[in-house]
Amino acid sequence: MKAPNSIPEVLDVASIRNQFPILNRRVKEKPLVYLDNAATSQKPQSVIDAISDYYTNYNANIHRGIHTLAEEATLAYEATRHAAQEFIGAASPEEIIFTRGTTEGINLVAYTWGRQHIIPGDEILISAMEHHSNIVPWQILCEEKDAVLKIIPVNDHGELSMEAYMELLNERTKLVSIVQVSNALGTVNPVKEMINAAHKAGARVLVDGAQSAVHLDIDVQDLDCDFFAFSAHKVYGPTGIGVLYGKKELLDSMPVFQGGGEMIKEVTFEKTTYNDLPYKYEAGTPNIADTIAFKTALDFVKETGKAAIREHENNLLDYATAQLQQIPGLRIIGEAKEKVSLVSFVIKDIHPQDIGIILDNMGIAVRTGHHCTQPLMKRFGIPGTVRASFALYNTREEIDILINGLQKAIKMLS
Ligand code: PLP
Repeated sequence: MKAPNSIPEVLDVASIRNQFPILNRRVKEKPLVYLDNAATSQKPQSVIDAISDYYTNYNANIHRGIHTLAEEATLAYEATRHAAQEFIGAASPEEIIFTRGTTEGINLVAYTWGRQHIIPGDEILISAMEHHSNIVPWQILCEEKDAVLKIIPVNDHGELSMEAYMELLNERTKLVSIVQVSNALGTVNPVKEMINAAHKAGARVLVDGAQSAVHLDIDVQDLDCDFFAFSAHKVYGPTGIGVLYGKKELLDSMPVFQGGGEMIKEVTFEKTTYNDLPYKYEAGTPNIADTIAFKTALDFVKETGKAAIREHENNLLDYATAQLQQIPGLRIIGEAKEKVSLVSFVIKDIHPQDIGIILDNMGIAVRTGHHCTQPLMKRFGIPGTVRASFALYNTREEIDILINGLQKAIKMLS
């Protein structure tokens, strides 16, 4: 690929960067170059302010109080539910369950829907590129229920084999749980087509949207997925809050997850009746401050415009890919036709961690290792990769710094 000479300005990146205070800090006496956005994105000042505004001005427990602070906190908390509903195109706010993040969302489905529906001999289909959080909950369930976990293979480009997928689907398949965008490869999977095929086979589908929610337009009704899980912290929001979307009829018919306050209608020692959606799945005092600030993050993305963000990030990806390909001995892991803005690579037989340490000394933050996808690393016969992942505030100059840093690291380690 030939390196483009310049990146078209689709975003006012300078003014966006001004909204992210952390980008002004120095690391090892160098300006921070933050390229670990797939692990977690940085937060704009508006999100940071929303957290402190809640604690400063209207800290109160939600739903149960009738005083002013409780009402203000409840309104703000529920406003996030509406914003999240709009963000992923859900039909109603009842379909938006707040969780701690993607991991908890997937586990919630495994513990409730999974225990209700999976019986011995059933098959659950995942892919070879899943994050551990979309492997382990299903392994636990399969072990408990004597069900079978089947794996959709990945080809050398880092794409799912759709042929193998179609062959694996059969009348025993009860669930397909699939990542929309791979955190290790950047591959965008054709989830709409996969959901359609799974439904024809009579299976439900959970989409792991941890990486896709920030980059792609998500419309859960158009996708027709049964569940969709994502985390706020990868969408410029706080840690400790995420969303599990589920179709209303499914959420209504599933057993409860955790027991406690908020998720009940009436409790006696003989019997408890459960609350309506979405509260049925939200036991206990939730993460109020971060949930409220999550709306600020969603507003930030909406105001900036997802299409412009995506275009900017795609330009960065093209530029970075072309530059990386010039480095002798560098091999990109994950060359799917459809990718989002991250690039994983290995260089000769140098251990990724050694490269990461040297880059950190230059103020450059990348991720190194297996990216919680150990089976995928095994598939490619490598211990891990170096991963640079881009967000809306990254620039071409930062990619130049990365390339320069890599060249120095190679010299030092060869
Ligand atoms: N799935 C994918 C594809 C991810 O990239 C991640 C996090 O990196 C997760 C699931 C888990 O997300 P969380 O740790 O926010 O629960």
